[in-house]
Amino acid sequence: MPSPKPILPQVPAQTYIPYHVPSIGEEEIAEVVDTLKSGWLTTGPKTARFEKEMAAFVGAPCTVAVNSCTAGLHLALAAADLRPGDEVITSPYTFAATAEVIIACGGRPVFIDVEANGFNLDPAKIERAVTRRSRAIMPVHFAGEPCRMDEIKEAAQRHSLRIIEDAAHALGASYHGHKVGTLSETTVFSFYATKNLTTGEGGMVCTLDAELAAKIKRLSLHGLSRNAWNRYARGGSWYYEIKEAGFKYNFTDLQASLGLHQLIKFPAMQQRRRRLAALYRSLLQEVDELQMPPDPVGVEHAWHLFVIRLRPGRLKIDRDRFIEALHEHGIGTSVHFIPLHLHPYYRDRYGFRRGDFPNAEAAYDGAISLPLYPQLEEEKVKEIASAVRNLIQKNKKSVHTFIKEEL
Ligand SMILES: *Cc1c(COP(=O)(O)O)cnc(C)c1O
Repeated sequence: MPSPKPILPQVPAQTYIPYHVPSIGEEEIAEVVDTLKSGWLTTGPKTARFEKEMAAFVGAPCTVAVNSCTAGLHLALAAADLRPGDEVITSPYTFAATAEVIIACGGRPVFIDVEANGFNLDPAKIERAVTRRSRAIMPVHFAGEPCRMDEIKEAAQRHSLRIIEDAAHALGASYHGHKVGTLSETTVFSFYATKNLTTGEGGMVCTLDAELAAKIKRLSLHGLSRNAWNRYARGGSWYYEIKEAGFKYNFTDLQASLGLHQLIKFPAMQQRRRRLAALYRSLLQEVDELQMPPDPVGVEHAWHLFVIRLRPGRLKIDRDRFIEALHEHGIGTSVHFIPLHLHPYYRDRYGFRRGDFPNAEAAYDGAISLPLYPQLEEEKVKEIASAVRNLIQKNKKSVHTFIKEEL
């Protein structure tokens, strides 16, 4: 792990291009006010409507809204009866949530490296990771690029593994004409503040299995036989039964108020993301020192993130310094992700070291997430791209130097 970074110097707010700005409009605000005045704040009619509209949008037969993607992933594993000692195969190139829910169930995350020059787990590495204790695979559709699901499904079938997709980045993505959310038994989306569709905090479990959906729904509210809306709405009854020990992961009508309007705007927001991603690519793809994010044929990318990579050894400055320099130019960026195996907890508990997942490490060492959100003007994208190009021009090693270093 790198040492803590110094606080970056202040740049005047008017000229700064923030890394992220949420797209919340008057419609969302009015709907939240309507909910506040309705007298029903928690899981209720608007949550039910949002679940139905999400099911229609994704084409998934069953949807359960929950208070985060992390909660949804946890519930999906709990509903799959993950037991202590069970192994779940996943990618180290992800956010904390993906592996911690496996650990929360008493399971063991088994990492496999991402593809060379890519960000998604390499299906060819599944085979060697399977043991008698393997129970599931959790693919992560990084940045909104769908994983190679045909190969993942084939491996899962061969070894009777369940698939639980971490689709936190991938609402709106599709794979060979099929939307993410319909590709395997269980898929979980995130509506966190920075995600492509936001409810502030929130998530959605999509499943093809109605029985599994009912179980996830029950577990999301203490394992109760009925939720409060069923009990307290007119004609409801005070009676409930605890069917099993669950969690408190339910979604609220306040969150649904945001989600219902975000979903209406979603196709337009996605179109805008695609357009900005294409603009970045056209402005930066000729730069030798950079690697553009993958955009494979046959898939629709959700463009949650636009992550460029600095090619190793080409510049006199490293990625961290590059990010500081962009900040000094008034451009906010981020890094997705610090591979999980490099974090102290994973290093200490499982004995991981740098070198264990070289493709993930190489991705991390060069990765810079550029600003990408519907409100970002095309002029700003051009400004960002030219700042990136100028920095590279100023800091590139001579061809002679880097060839000598490679030898
Ligand atoms: C954001 C994110 C999550 C967690 O989503 P929450 O809704 O914040 O729980 C999980 N996985 C990945 C890859 C994410 O980026």
